[in-house]
Amino acid sequence: MTGAHWEETAQDAEFRREVRAFVRESFPACYRPDPEAENSLEPEDVWGYDWPADRCSPDPERRAGALAWAAALAERGWIAPHLPAAYGGAGLSPMREFILREEMVRAEVPTVNGIGAMLLGPTLMEFGTQEQRRAHLPGIACGRTVWAQGFSEPDAGSDLAALRTTAVREPAGPAGPEAYRVTGQKVWTSSAQYADWLFVLVRTDPDAPRHKGITFLLIDATSDGVSIRPIEDMRGATPFAEIHFDDVRVPVAHRVGAENQGWYVAMAALGFERAGIGAPVKFEQLLKRLVGRLRSAEGQELVRADTTVLRHEIARRYVEMRAQYAVARLTAAGHAAGAVPGYEASVSQLLGAELHQRLARTGARAFGPYAQLWQRGPAPMAAAFAHMRFDAVAATLLGGTTEIQRRVIATRGLGLPRS
Ligand SMILES: Cc1cc2nc3c(=O)[nH]c(=O)nc-3n(C[C@H](O)[C@H](O)[C@H](O)COP(=O)(O)OP(=O)(O)OC[C@H]3O[C@@H](n4cnc5c(N)ncnc54)[C@H](O)[C@@H]3O)c2cc1C
Repeated sequence: MTGAHWEETAQDAEFRREVRAFVRESFPACYRPDPEAENSLEPEDVWGYDWPADRCSPDPERRAGALAWAAALAERGWIAPHLPAAYGGAGLSPMREFILREEMVRAEVPTVNGIGAMLLGPTLMEFGTQEQRRAHLPGIACGRTVWAQGFSEPDAGSDLAALRTTAVREPAGPAGPEAYRVTGQKVWTSSAQYADWLFVLVRTDPDAPRHKGITFLLIDATSDGVSIRPIEDMRGATPFAEIHFDDVRVPVAHRVGAENQGWYVAMAALGFERAGIGAPVKFEQLLKRLVGRLRSAEGQELVRADTTVLRHEIARRYVEMRAQYAVARLTAAGHAAGAVPGYEASVSQLLGAELHQRLARTGARAFGPYAQLWQRGPAPMAAAFAHMRFDAVAATLLGGTTEIQRRVIATRGLGLPRS
């Protein structure tokens, strides 16, 4: 760990109040809970807010709400708050960004442009050219351009360096400036069907050692030869898609970092992805609601007579949640002290993913057979834990599996030899 500390100042507390007041005033009505919709079983409802989908929604009210929310955030530079004001951000320090994101999750408002703002934004600040920053960061920061992350392939998930999508360089000619011809397939790309642009890893040198022949490219999703097909998950929702590239022409100017050095750019992007604050805040809220419910007269009727085991379990979840929160704070403080998120981000991701699944099980245990109810109306706590259990299946996979996070912690964090 970085050893950095962070005590919240009076100015930080003032900033927290400012964020809360902003959310109260600007949160669009269509995002406020609708009591009429309590029994909805639409698969998309289960995922909660999905801003990229809402922005393209056939429902005009939803679409207008998504755009209004993005505009309100963008006015303050709060879609990509860490970016400099010159690119549409707010130039916030990592700690202020932490407070902002914490309060947003607490208020249960949708994240706007999460992948573009949290992954690609900092990556372009570190590895992009001035032209790339100028071309792409303002669109991210105002919510105009939505991005998706095309790393995983059918045989290259945990073993990402096995990726096979190829890019062959061709000189400038009648077709346009010097470019790569990209052919191959990506899979499980979150929100790709709503994306305007993709950031993708491709193989540019098939003869080099696996990690050394990979390049990081920015690809316009509307380019000729790109096809995107949504994939259904086990609940019938379509949170991700597969992407096929059929001889897609990508200008060399859309490469981030040097040719064949994309692995290192991608590892930095993944570090930014894993260092989030959202999970512990969400878990804390759910745990508080669970405790409140169990203490109520209704809760006392639902819960089994001997609650000793359950009490211990809830206390353990609370300690785990606080530990994860502390790691997230430490990561923000380390970042402020100049550290790029590294293995600490894997610690955060691992704690969050496993806590997600344990908390879902604790909720199920508290309500016994009632936890099986899927319909929100009759189920305790509007079936929050039933839905969380479905969400939790993907938690130990997305953003890299927990086995892979452990390997990062073992090798990069503890310096253990690779097996
Ligand atoms: C909801 C969701 C959203 C996603 N969004 C995106 C996205 O936006 N962009 C993107 O690029 N990808 C995305 N992914 C893909 C995700 O990154 C991969 O699913 C993940 O990296 C695992 O790869 P895999 O599915 O190929 O499984 P595999 O790599 O085949 O793994 C299968 C099992 O084997 C284990 N295993 C594999 N290798 C090792 C090893 N060396 N040591 C120990 N155990 C090992 C794994 O931990 C796992 O348990 C998403 C996935 C999900 C579920």
